[in-house]
Amino acid sequence: MTMETHYSAYFFDLGGTLLALEQDEIACSKTGKVTLLPGVRDHLLPLCGTPVFVITNQAAVALGHLSEATARGFIDQINAAVGQVITDYRICMHHPLAGCPCRKPQPGMVFDLARTHTINLAQAVLIGDTANDEQCAQLAGIGTFLWAHDFFSFC
Ligand SMILES: [Zn+2]
Repeated sequence: MTMETHYSAYFFDLGGTLLALEQDEIACSKTGKVTLLPGVRDHLLPLCGTPVFVITNQAAVALGHLSEATARGFIDQINAAVGQVITDYRICMHHPLAGCPCRKPQPGMVFDLARTHTINLAQAVLIGDTANDEQCAQLAGIGTFLWAHDFFSFC
């Protein structure tokens, strides 16, 4: 698809959108390496100069299956592969039942990034792979939601 460059900011989900999943968790090799999904590198590189954010639920941290450092390392690995194009990110590490304001579909992570970087959310886009992401975009007042398989043209 044609690259849309008129958005004020790009908010990306992580697992299933930028990174491959394995049994609903981000696929991670024994050495801790993640796998970028097809098209991610080619579509992110040209976004340099536009705010690019990642927002992800990683309750595995609260559940003790994943360390905070490993979760942050996921973002570092993407950034290393895409020329440091990711401006900032937020990870909700809370338990699913904690009732925190940041776990998607709650819009807390979006609001926090928008405040920090002065983003007009009505002009922004959120790209995700689940109804949870779509609902988060609606609750946050993000103007456009796109499915990851459409944005990155993978299936
Ligand atoms: Zn949270």
